[in-house]
Amino acid sequence: MNVGVEKDPFVRKYDVRQDYKLGRVLGKGSFAKVVLGTSLRDGSIERAVKIIDVKALSQNDVEALDLEIKTMRRVSHHNIVCLHEIYSFESSLVMVLELCKGGELFDRIVEKSHYGEHEARVAFAQMVEAIGHCHAKGVVHRDLKPENLLYADFQGPEAETLKLADFGLASLLSDRNALSTACGTPGYVSPEILTKRGYGKECDLWSLGVILYILLCGYPPFFDENNNNAAIFKLIKAGTYEFGSPYWDSVSQQAKDLVTRLLTVDPAKRISSDQVFEHPWMKTDEVANLHL
Ligand code: ADP
Ligand code: MG
Repeated sequence: MNVGVEKDPFVRKYDVRQDYKLGRVLGKGSFAKVVLGTSLRDGSIERAVKIIDVKALSQNDVEALDLEIKTMRRVSHHNIVCLHEIYSFESSLVMVLELCKGGELFDRIVEKSHYGEHEARVAFAQMVEAIGHCHAKGVVHRDLKPENLLYADFQGPEAETLKLADFGLASLLSDRNALSTACGTPGYVSPEILTKRGYGKECDLWSLGVILYILLCGYPPFFDENNNNAAIFKLIKAGTYEFGSPYWDSVSQQAKDLVTRLLTVDPAKRISSDQVFEHPWMKTDEVANLHL
């Protein structure tokens, strides 16, 4: 195996089960299985253990995984899932991650149908914090979507804390090759990725615009009734979406303005993560807003 970890002192070269008792399955990805892990040294420590079967990976996948690990080690933020340890043993690569018990943002949106403006702001501000940190560290996430944002807990003080997870598509800004590869998830992908016009961190702000739109109304801005990707891509490239009635009737003008600034087709004119925090909607006082 060559995931670039063989000579890495951070990587443990033995079976993760010597350190963790593995439990129930938390989720599954394309090549990874994520299970609960309880530390054998300290039973109060619980982690998410992501097990990747390296045998099943192509050379490209191996490179993507290598990049995922490099990226996660480069970032450190309250709103980003922390990578605690890596194990490389036999044909498995294991990432021991901070455990998020609160489930995916996606499921909470579905549960509530949509978020009120205050709740949306609380969630959105954390995403912008996380992405701002990535960008400051030279990392573009490129796969921002509600499935890759996890709530830290379902109750208690961390019940509203969101963490960015899954850096599978993330790329380091210095990595020119990776940055010219079109990828992402259909509804969230930015126009400049689709037109292959070379793109940087602005693509994450577009995806944040899609997520903010969904938070506020419960449905995506770019969709096709038959799930036809080509039709969705056409809408994205033209930046064609609506604030449809009645869903958007009660949403504030400021919120719509921020969505508009994020869903701006020209990446050079799109709002940046620093500017988002200066936007009036981010500074809105809910109590004052009630009297508008
Ligand atoms: P992939 O890169 O294959 O998409 P992910 O890292 O997204 O894999 O993990 C797959 C699923 O496992 C996630 O959608 C989530 O439900 C669960 N999961 C991943 N990381 C964690 C974590 N830190 N805490 C709890 N569940 C997690
Ligand atoms: Mg994923």
